[in-house]
Amino acid sequence: MHPLAVDALETHEAHQNALHNQGSDECDKLHEECGVFAIYGYPEASNLAYLGLYALQHRGQESAGIASSDGRKIHSFRRMGHVAEIFTPDVLNELPGALAIGHTRYSTAGDTSIRNAQPLSVACSKGQVAVAHNGNLTNAIELRRDLEEDGSIFQSTSDTEVILHLVARSRERTLAGALRDALLQIEGAFSLVFLAQDRIIVARDPHGFRPLAMGELQVVDGTVATVFASETCAFDLIGATYIGDVGAGEMVIVGPEGVTRERYTPPESPAQCAFEHVYFSRPDSIVFGKPVAQTRELMGRLVAREHPIEADVVVPVPDSGVIAALGYSAESGIPYRQGLIRNHYVGRTFIEPSQAIRDFGVKLKLNPVRHLLEGKRVILVDDSVVRGTTSRKIVRMVRSAGAREVHLRISCPPTISPCYYGVDTPSERELIAAQRSIEEIREFVEADTLGYLSLESLHQALNDHDRRFCYSCYTGKYPTLVQIDEIVLAKTGCC
Ligand code: AMP
Repeated sequence: MHPLAVDALETHEAHQNALHNQGSDECDKLHEECGVFAIYGYPEASNLAYLGLYALQHRGQESAGIASSDGRKIHSFRRMGHVAEIFTPDVLNELPGALAIGHTRYSTAGDTSIRNAQPLSVACSKGQVAVAHNGNLTNAIELRRDLEEDGSIFQSTSDTEVILHLVARSRERTLAGALRDALLQIEGAFSLVFLAQDRIIVARDPHGFRPLAMGELQVVDGTVATVFASETCAFDLIGATYIGDVGAGEMVIVGPEGVTRERYTPPESPAQCAFEHVYFSRPDSIVFGKPVAQTRELMGRLVAREHPIEADVVVPVPDSGVIAALGYSAESGIPYRQGLIRNHYVGRTFIEPSQAIRDFGVKLKLNPVRHLLEGKRVILVDDSVVRGTTSRKIVRMVRSAGAREVHLRISCPPTISPCYYGVDTPSERELIAAQRSIEEIREFVEADTLGYLSLESLHQALNDHDRRFCYSCYTGKYPTLVQIDEIVLAKTGCC
């Protein structure tokens, strides 16, 4: 069947969102950091999807959406903004049924179009289908070009829509068959949750780049609901039990007949994202079967062993550096102090002083505790340096609060290459570690000393003896072919 009516189910919400839809299309990027959630077999499933997304809010703050099914019809609501603001009781009442999927999407400047918010819904010959995606397809440009040449009309710039077009055009008669067909054509990183009228289908790419956890939840009538989420912190909030991960190259179908697990393709070389453990996931989650808090503390301990220094206090950059700083402090015996306080209620601000205040942006978010820092030799711990500009502002802030010395410790190796698998890293040109030596970075961020975790120690922290993780942002070696516009980067060997 030809072209999709991608927004056919969403006229109401499109109208509701008209005012918010002021993003610049030219700036839309394909890189997306996201959180996904799905639930089958729970009355008022959308309420639980809401709670699941609430727990996954850190994975994306630009937009959120839920699609539910009452067994006959798919209902969907997507909006720009945060989960708690979007899903009022009235909105959730309009999302009935025992099946639901949800999505939170990351925000970057200029990338604020409601058309890219998910779940995306479609009506096609396989019925109504909604999809939510975490990851980034590496052959989306090529697939999209082929589909457009063949007459497909796209409604968004998101690579996720490619999947829906492939599903709609598949000659397979069942939805599961069409999904299998589509999944075999897409490449890159994808943890996908699909909603049909009477079932949930989820799938993970054959490398397993992005996480997708599976859980169970007791229902009062004695039945068991099945849940899926990017991170297990979503299960904790709704009282679900984590039972394991959807495997790489696996598809799980949950319908009236029960749960069916199948390999739609053989798994390829494993490439679980190391950055999920370094920064992206919440420390209270189990990701790829490993507690994030444990790996992050070990990263801190190992960077302390690799880069010891005499100092008075260990201070984290909150929140991303907290657990690693605890590890650094425990390993070094130097006391941990919360010398920077984060304002957790920062959203966007439209008011800026007309007279430029130095480092205003970072001051909105962080404030130093002068009496903990004054006259002290400070070890400042953060998870990563990307462009270096934030790190420099924070080092300056700590120094201006009276610190005598500032020693920056980073709990991962230098980020030298962009991610093509769903983490929003800037181009190589903007990555400070791709352009400068460690000594030059130290000078740039104005720290007295600078120490990064080595790649070997990161392997150790992740207990990755058999190389199940992707380290491409630290090595520049990508486990798949990567296509950027017309350029195809050769697969550069296992990362
Ligand atoms: P900068 O070096 O100035 O680009 O910023 C480094 C800060 O950004 C660190 O505090 C990191 O915790 C944070 N950070 C690193 N990667 C990301 C990412 N993909 N998305 C959002 N923040 C990030």
